[in-house]
Order: sequence, then C-alpha cells, then structure tokens
Amino acid sequence: MGIDLEKYEVVIGLEIHTQLLTQTKAFSEELAEYGAMPNSNISVVNLGHPGTLPRHNKEAVNMALKVGIACGCDITPYCLYARKNYFYADLPKGYQITQDKTPLCTNGSIHIKKEDGTTKDILLTRIHLEEDSGKSIHDMDMYHSLIDYNRAGTTLIEIVTEPVIKTGEEAGLFVTEVRKLVRYLDVCDGNMEEGSLRCDANISVMLKGSKTFGTKVEVKNMNSISNVRKAIEYEMERQVDILESGKKVFQETRSFDAVKGTTFSIRAKELATDYRYFPEPDLPPLIITEAWIKDVEASMPKLPKELYDMFTREYGLSTYDAQVLTENKEVAAYYLEMVEHAKNFKACANYLMGPVRGYLNKNAIELSDFVLTARQIADIIRLVDENVISNAAAEQIVLLGLIEEPSKTAKQVAEEKNVIQNSDDDFINQLVDEALSAYPDKVDAYKNGKTGLLGLFMGEVMKRSGGKADPKVATEILRKKLNA
Ligand code: ADP
Ligand code: MG
Repeated sequence: MGIDLEKYEVVIGLEIHTQLLTQTKAFSEELAEYGAMPNSNISVVNLGHPGTLPRHNKEAVNMALKVGIACGCDITPYCLYARKNYFYADLPKGYQITQDKTPLCTNGSIHIKKEDGTTKDILLTRIHLEEDSGKSIHDMDMYHSLIDYNRAGTTLIEIVTEPVIKTGEEAGLFVTEVRKLVRYLDVCDGNMEEGSLRCDANISVMLKGSKTFGTKVEVKNMNSISNVRKAIEYEMERQVDILESGKKVFQETRSFDAVKGTTFSIRAKELATDYRYFPEPDLPPLIITEAWIKDVEASMPKLPKELYDMFTREYGLSTYDAQVLTENKEVAAYYLEMVEHAKNFKACANYLMGPVRGYLNKNAIELSDFVLTARQIADIIRLVDENVISNAAAEQIVLLGLIEEPSKTAKQVAEEKNVIQNSDDDFINQLVDEALSAYPDKVDAYKNGKTGLLGLFMGEVMKRSGGKADPKVATEILRKKLNA
C-alpha cells in the first residue's frame, strides 16, 4: 500500500442496487422470477409498446419502505416517478422509470463496526425505487451478444450514501450490513455473484484537510464484498499516483478486473442532463400515508441491531457471541426459540455456536436443514442445568443420540445411553472411599498441601462411576473426606 495518508484523504460514496423479491415486476404483472426461460416473462408493458400503461406495485413499495424504516430514513409522502432516458440494447423502452427529485426515502444511516472496535454511522442520501434493465449476455455466443428481457422492469431499490466513507474496509463493512439487513427483511436474496445486489463505488482523493473534494471516478462490476474493497484500494492508489505525477484525475466510469485486481476505463461520465429526466406521465403520484407506514412497521421482524443490543444488554452475552448470533436471521430465530425453552442464555449460545455449529459444519448442512428443533436442544440444556446429565454427556452422547433418533425426547436418549447422573450420596460415598484408598500416598500429599490433587481423585471417582456421578456431589464429598 503505497498511499501517503499524511498527505491525502480518500472520499468514497456508494450506490447499491438491490433487486427486490417482489412476485411481479415493478410496474407490470409479469412474474419476476430468477432463472426462467429467457424472454418468457415479458409483456407489451415492459417492452414499452405504444398505448400500454405501467401501474404501481404495492408489494414493491412495501419492501422499499421496510428498508427505509429500518435505516431510520425520512419517508417522502408524495413521490413522483421520472423517466431516465438513454439508449441501450437491454433497455427496450428507451427509458427507465425511476425516482429523481422525490425519492421514497431520504437521510437515515447504517451502522458499521470496524476491525479496530470503533463504530460509525454511514449516512444515506436516499433510497429510491426504480425498474431494472434487461440483461445482455456477451459470453454465450462467439459472434453475437444475446439479450434476455426477463429482468427488464423488475424492481430495484438504489441505496445511495453520502460521500462519508473513508476506506475500503468501511465500504466492505457497509455492503456487508446492507446485505445482512435486506436478507433479514426478506426483501432481497443478497447474492452478489448473481447480481441481486450490485455495488458501484465513487472514489476521489484530495489533499488532506482540503475543503473541496477531488474529481470522482465511478467503479462498477465488483461481484463480491472483497472485490469492492480491492477495487477501492486499487483506485485510491491509482488516483494518488496521478496527482503525484502532477496530472489530473479524469471523471469517468471504470470497471473492476477481478483477475488482475485493477480497474479500467469503460466510458466518460454521463451527466444528469444527458438523461433528460422528466416526470413519468403515465403513473399517478405515489402517496404514502402515516397509516401505510405504521402497517409496514408492524410487519417487520426484529432487526439485527435490536437483537444485538438485546443479547448484549439483557442476556449478558459477549459482543462476539451477539455478533455471531445475529449474523443471519435463521440463527437468531433458532437462538430465540432455544432461550424461550431453556432460560440459560449463555448455555444456549454456547450450544448453538459450539456443538451444533460443529455438527453442521462437519456434515456441510445449513441450520434450516438440521433435524433437531431449537426446543430439542433446549431440552438437553435443561437436563444439564438440572444436574440430570453432565455437560460432557450432553455434548458427546445425548446430542448425537438425539440427532440419530429425533423422535425421542432428550431424557429418553439419556436413559437409553445410560448417562443419567447419580447424585445418590451412598453410591458416591462408596466410590470416593474406593478412589482414596487406591492412592494412599497421594492422599498424604494432599493433606500436606498439594490440593491440586483434587482433580486426580475426581477423575478416579468419575471413572469408577462410568461418568455418571454427579460432579457437584462428588466434589463435595471428596473435599469433606480429605479435609477431615
Ligand atoms: P452523480 O451526479 O454523478 O450521480 P451524485 O452527487 O449523485 O453524483 O453522487 C453519487 C455518489 O457519489 C454518491 O454516493 C455520493 O456520495 C458520491 N460522491 C459524490 N461526490 C463525490 C466525490 N467527490 N468523491 C467521492 N464520492 C462522491
Ligand atoms: Mg446522482
């Protein structure tokens, strides 16, 4: 990394296009499914035939509102759509319906947590609704470009940040949080390789402390979060090198080459005037009432940030545990169901992140395909908490036994596997006597101050009980006898 951060300051703003999982397209009735036969989900409306009319899609607005509300945005009560005109083969109408002067959401922010532990709220400029273009395919035919219009007219939101991002790390974390959020809200699958979530990065550099931003360059086509970061880091260096050699940065659009890790120019920057935006005459204004906003709010699940706060403040979990458990909605929901049945917050977290995760990883399955319900795992934890089985037996024997026979109860499995602990005093007394008489010299050593030998005696008692002695009772009796 060759850039002199004493001398230069980097300014980054991101634009994220997010494909919404609406059933139908943004302004017409065709299905918006991914992977259908090319050019099978198209109609005269999204091909822009004369005399056809677009219409509003309530599901699309609801999904966009969810994202806006989750980011604490101001919701615009009266939105007009606009036409953004340009010519491209994948744009059959010759214009895109979007929101220009009246985006659905303005302001708001997304919270990120950096590797050094500091946090930052990345301010948003706007979130607006628009339709997607079709898809040009350049690598399927040697001589021709192919076009699939199925995507034409499907719903997008564009999330635009203020120019407040300072590093590739911050940009990567921002995209990570956006992806997590839209997945939690079930409005986008967040798949960057398939293009459901596409990030464009605007990058400029300026002398440190300067009041005016440098000329920005827009970089496109990063199909993963690590590539967003790499593209930005490359671009920062490239621009500083230009300034250091006394030249000027040229405003343009560049593309990221993932193989070389570099960016290359694809076109000079278009200006807004090139698009000749004007109000879309065929759609009535979109009017968002307070009641509509309330309805959407009521339909929203708990968000990762809320869950994180609840886990750390009310449940007493570590920030690490809370982070892992809120990484995705399935894990969080599973955990919440566990703690409903076994009130031991920490033990539930440990089980889910330890033995359960271990089993899933080993067998390469997702939590959603796991045979045991949250309640069944909670039952195992309760058996441990009630001293019915030991922690070791729970993890190594009962959990695996239950996975094999998920129709049984945890208690039944524990009984069949013969791991129910014995806390009967007489039984344990006898084992303690046996253990102590097996090591008379160690007993003397203990009495002379080597109290660390307690572990050895405990091990012996446990071994003689076949792992079934209640360790609490056994420790108590051992101590009493040794200290007598
Ligand atoms: P445009 O008119 O080119 O679309 P906008 O002002 O709408 O530019 O900004 C688009 C994105 O670029 C936003 O995310 C914004 O924060 C960011 N941006 C604007 N100016 C700069 C700059 N000088 N350097 C880096 N990013 C910038
Ligand atoms: Mg703009």
